[in-house]
Amino acid sequence: MSPAQPDRLLVVENDCNPLKLSASLAGRGYRVDTAAAVAAAMEKIRRDSYDLVLLDQASTGTSSLDLLRLVRATHSPDELPVIMVTRAGETQTAMDALHVGANDYVVHPVDLPVVTARIEEQLSRLRPRYRHRRRSRVREAADVAKYETDPLTGLATRRAIVERLREAIAVRRDTALTLIALDLDGFRVINDSFGQTAGDRILVELARRLRRTVARCESVVIARIGGDEFAALAEGTHDAASLAGRILQEVVRPMEIGDLQISAAASLGVFAGAPGGSTAEDVLRDAHLAMYRAKELGKNRWQQFEPELRTRARARMALVHDLRYALERSEFRAYYQPKVNLRTRKIVGFEALIRWRHPVRGLVYPGDFIELAEETGMIVPIGEWVLQQACRQLRAWQSQFPQAPLTMNVNLSVKQLIDPNLVERVAAILDETDVAPQSLNLELTETALMTNIGPARSALTGLRNLRVGLKLDDFGTGYSSLGYLRAMHFDSLKIDKSFVTRMTSDGECRAIVESMARLAQALGMTVVAEGVELEEHLTELLRLGCEVGQGFYFSPAVDAERAEQLLERSCGSALG
Ligand code: C2E
Ligand code: MG
Ligand code: MG
Repeated sequence: MSPAQPDRLLVVENDCNPLKLSASLAGRGYRVDTAAAVAAAMEKIRRDSYDLVLLDQASTGTSSLDLLRLVRATHSPDELPVIMVTRAGETQTAMDALHVGANDYVVHPVDLPVVTARIEEQLSRLRPRYRHRRRSRVREAADVAKYETDPLTGLATRRAIVERLREAIAVRRDTALTLIALDLDGFRVINDSFGQTAGDRILVELARRLRRTVARCESVVIARIGGDEFAALAEGTHDAASLAGRILQEVVRPMEIGDLQISAAASLGVFAGAPGGSTAEDVLRDAHLAMYRAKELGKNRWQQFEPELRTRARARMALVHDLRYALERSEFRAYYQPKVNLRTRKIVGFEALIRWRHPVRGLVYPGDFIELAEETGMIVPIGEWVLQQACRQLRAWQSQFPQAPLTMNVNLSVKQLIDPNLVERVAAILDETDVAPQSLNLELTETALMTNIGPARSALTGLRNLRVGLKLDDFGTGYSSLGYLRAMHFDSLKIDKSFVTRMTSDGECRAIVESMARLAQALGMTVVAEGVELEEHLTELLRLGCEVGQGFYFSPAVDAERAEQLLERSCGSALG
């Protein structure tokens, strides 16, 4: 052996083996690396240029034959000699190993001089050729590393982790594994608010934390598989829940980025089990389905994959398909929920709420399709249809009931708000339907605004210049500053129904409603309560100075015909 360039050995052995071969061989002048599991060993073999692999089957069990098969799929016995350590008396196993492609075997317990002699025998046979080969392999490894390493974080890439997953599945379909898919929550907001450089630094810091979290588990591979998406692959499933929990804990710990303190959050999907008939891509998709579910369930959490999620995904695809045709098949209906003056109990206007009359499913509520419509961009034409319908209806009711100065509220999706044609389209619809801009109120949720601050601001200014009203919907469910929203031209806020419905049973909710009402009034904004379900809510709201409300106590959203009957009644006597 040349002392300047020691031969590199990879010893695959059980971590807990007290008679570690690796330690003894390192003492003999070899450069020794170790791996305790198939995946970790393959990763090392692919990345580094070893001269020989010593596979301790006596301590790692039957998976060493699988590893041998994998090694032989990419390296011939001449390129990378493998020596097996088999248990005493297991002649058949030794024969199997030779059959699969081991160059030699030694029997456990190993006699150090014997194993060194066998290693030297293999190395000396190959030495004249492999010096050259090693050089070219180092170059190859560098090329591979280029597309297998993410340049920003230094983690493995999507391609690399999928490859590792493929290998793990190829070895044995019934061996359990864990794949965790992680997606940062609201990373776009961070990027938009603090800039791309801060965003990059967060990703780098996160990569560092992920590495540290798994540092003690040898077989875990961490990868960055998309802009703000990461993945962790581990052998076995026993640690899946605790690994997901530990990762989540690391993500939410505040980060110091320059002089900023940033708190990130993430949604994790966990596939834990044997892949069975699934491919690597299937497993990755399943982990993603679980991750989307974690997002749906409120984000900043982890969710385990269940086969039912595949059924849901298929149903969702079917819904997207139907949604594409719903508009041209005239399947949407505008429903109207009365807004009531809490003191006089008379209707002062309506909120238009969309319903979908699906030919098979029956009446579908917005909670089941608005998000899909937003994701697919279909919300823009759908939202415009609602606006047109609501304005037309308002005009008709205004003529029919001139004694009641009615207004109409229409919900606007953020996708509509950032559509460059929005202001022009709203102006055209007001014009076509002959509705005064002051009698139209557009409702936006604060969460929608926070994700698109820049374009939203200019659209809001345009709408304000048209003199339509701007209402902040579902107030209290986001994290915005009221002063800031006031500056964005909102004249009114709607306290979210989750606070109103609980305000008489839960002291904390009552206090929240009270402080929101006070704050809004101090800023010169009017307060509207949604979710008025009981007489007590009404009494309490009036006490807090809230003048207008809507809710099941007065009426749910109803079709135009029923709304008209309510109006007739309201013009005669009070509702509720
Ligand atoms: P939102 O704008 O906050 O509308 C209020 C929701 O609360 C409506 O649900 C309404 O039916 C329900 N609600 C009314 N009174 C009560 C009550 O007393 N108690 C309770 N628990 N709930 C009450 P809906 O119609 O299912 O709509 C859900 C959401 O879907 C709406 O929330 C809005 O964000 C969205 N949405 C509805 N129509 C449209 C639309 O045309 N365009 C867009 N972009 N979004 C829409
Ligand atoms: Mg609304
Ligand atoms: Mg609301």
